[in-house]
Amino acid sequence: MNDKKIVVQKYGGTSVGTPERIKAVAEKIRQYVDRGISVVVVVSAMGHATDELIKLSMEINENPSRREMDMLLSTGEQVSISLLAMALQNIGIDAVSFTGSQIKLVTDGNFSNAKIQSISTERIMKYLNENNVVIVAGFQGIDDDENITTLGRGGSDTTAVALAAVLKSRDCEIYTDVNGVYTADPRIVEHTKKLNEISYDEMLELARLGAGVLHSRSVEFAKKYNIKLHVRSSFNSEEGTIVMPREEMMEKFLISGVTSKLNEAKITIRDIPDRPGIAAKLFELLGKNKIYVNMIVQSTGHDNKASISFTVLKENLKDAIAICNSLRGEFGISQGIESKENIAIVSAVGVGMLSAWGVAGRMFKVLSDHGINIEMISTSEIGISCVIDTKYAELAVKAIHEIFIELGQV
Ligand code: ADP
Ligand code: ASP
Ligand code: MG
Repeated sequence: MNDKKIVVQKYGGTSVGTPERIKAVAEKIRQYVDRGISVVVVVSAMGHATDELIKLSMEINENPSRREMDMLLSTGEQVSISLLAMALQNIGIDAVSFTGSQIKLVTDGNFSNAKIQSISTERIMKYLNENNVVIVAGFQGIDDDENITTLGRGGSDTTAVALAAVLKSRDCEIYTDVNGVYTADPRIVEHTKKLNEISYDEMLELARLGAGVLHSRSVEFAKKYNIKLHVRSSFNSEEGTIVMPREEMMEKFLISGVTSKLNEAKITIRDIPDRPGIAAKLFELLGKNKIYVNMIVQSTGHDNKASISFTVLKENLKDAIAICNSLRGEFGISQGIESKENIAIVSAVGVGMLSAWGVAGRMFKVLSDHGINIEMISTSEIGISCVIDTKYAELAVKAIHEIFIELGQV
């Protein structure tokens, strides 16, 4: 029985991008081992290894099967786990690495975006009890038929949090190439501020709306299992950002983050009958075909006709249009089904919105001041999103960040 404290740590691609960095990660882990802590480490593929594998596949087949794609992409993490185990062994620390299948990390069969269903802790606990650092490949699992699956880009964060959940550890550290979660992507906005804390709900909303610093499902798991997520840099020992329950937060801002999402496209169907059942039919069919729909706006025109606009992932656009076309006859759609790929969804997120007014107006005003047309709008309790043309994405994020964050929170 292991009664030592267990910490799960995840190191992202940049953090294990070179042999020197892998050695530095081993040194970081040593500090925990020396304090008598049991460490489970999840790693991503080195540097841009996953992107390189995707490029490689495109040279062979531009439309590869999703099963073989997952088989290929999972190899990136197999390289980094073994190298990290070697780096630890080299400094006298016992370490053992496992692939997803070796620890029975079982997912559904949705290749390239699989969801974790269960993880066996048996093998991990056996090795932890024998004082090993256990290293697990991020981003991968197996389905019921033992096919290798992957969890979606950035999915190693989710592997780490899911492991913390099954190992009943409350602590999960996400080591990355920035000092924590910022009010906007520091690569885009110059005057961003690091947040010391952020609530699960805000982080989830930001991740869903494009903030690549955490995989959104990792935040869902963290919230569900009450795991304290600490997002921090692997290059220094500064405190990062703690993702935690809203009630426990000391600082609450009107807006805690501004983000943009570029991987969606918009479809508009005009002149469909304005009667019950039309939207149900359309979105049920999209759902059955596993097409993720994000924003939906319906507006009524004249003659009992309506138009519906919605956004889907760019990779699903062709399939979504085909589904819309299949309903033409039944819906009596006479006009063309329009689509637009060069859209960006820009969003502001903050729990402060729950008790403030005028936020939407200020956000729309700043976009209009910059001559940016808003094509769609959606709101949640703690977020406002606008669809705009891609070419204005950076400008919009900077402008919204400036008025809500740099010029002070009101
Ligand atoms: P890793 O390989 O460690 O998982 P990622 O590239 O997935 O790293 O995530 C870290 C990156 O997320 C940062 O380098 C940064 O550019 C980006 N990012 C986007 N939005 C934010 C944000 N709000 N705060 C911090 N980083 C962000
Ligand atoms: N290596 C995978 C990716 O690049 C998973 C991850 O890094 O989290 O998306
Ligand atoms: Mg990541």
